[in-house]
Amino acid sequence: MSATSTSATTLSAETLFRRLKRRDPSAWRRFAVLYGPLVYSWARQAGRTPPEANKFVATFARRLASRIDEYRPEQGKFRDWLATQCQKLLDTQEPEEASEAAFNRKQWGGVILRALYEAGDTQQQTLFRRVMFDKESTEAVAQDGGLSKMSVYEARSRILHQLRGDLSAELAPGEKPVTRTPTGCLNPQAIHTFSIGLAPQETIDAAVVHLKACETCRESLWQNDCSSDPLVNLVRNLPPVEPHVDEQECKLAVNALKTNLQWMEPDGAPAKATKTSAPAASKPAKTKAAAGAAVSAAPNALGPGMWITLAVVAAVVATLSLLVIGAW
Ligand SMILES: [Zn+2]
Repeated sequence: MSATSTSATTLSAETLFRRLKRRDPSAWRRFAVLYGPLVYSWARQAGRTPPEANKFVATFARRLASRIDEYRPEQGKFRDWLATQCQKLLDTQEPEEASEAAFNRKQWGGVILRALYEAGDTQQQTLFRRVMFDKESTEAVAQDGGLSKMSVYEARSRILHQLRGDLSAELAPGEKPVTRTPTGCLNPQAIHTFSIGLAPQETIDAAVVHLKACETCRESLWQNDCSSDPLVNLVRNLPPVEPHVDEQECKLAVNALKTNLQWMEPDGAPAKATKTSAPAASKPAKTKAAAGAAVSAAPNALGPGMWITLAVVAAVVATLSLLVIGAW
């Protein structure tokens, strides 16, 4: 909406969302880890069984990969767009009962936690959790770890920087563009962008070197108030974690997405069916009509493997029909 809405994406580190759009495989793997469990949780909340939710994640991921270009950050947050796409697919998969696909969109804290697990080293993650989630004082956390206060600030800045790359499409628009850090002492804006991890990676590196050597700038950093930053606010007021994400089928679904990235190929490409659908697909359908309904319900989910399964099912049905006729 506003002219500044995409300014956060001017960071030197390319955001996850932009990497998804240009089909960077590592970005799609990241998407699988961060958002796969959220989609699984939505499917479970909409009444799917764990195996059904597992299968749904694969189907939805393929559909999303072909539609990612339709998302516009200025139209709203990524997870809201994702939820709408998800809801549509959940509804179209249950035409008979006209399901409402009700799920709680506010429970998505797991996405932030999973982004944290992917960011920085484990010591930095621990420091970050304590000051941001548990809201312990920087002094206490530094003292416990036998570290300088500056180390805790550095960890916070580096983790925030990484989270910003993963979660930029989840923030409210209107963040200020990055200002380059000048050599020598840091101006208040540079202190602030360092504090909230908004500076590019190389600027953070330079700022850390300077801050470690300059007591005046460190004092400015201690005084800097970053409570108005959207990402800092988001992390400090973590939304509830989505339910069902600890289930085994959820882990299997995410693992399947991570290990075989063929689902991210656009619709036109000769993508193969994901392995996750194999157990469900091998269950024979009762009638040809049922098999036909399955085809129309999930047209995008059909790969060569599914067609072979359907052919086998059709052959079995035909054979049974002949046997029945023969018996009469
Ligand atoms: Zn200085």
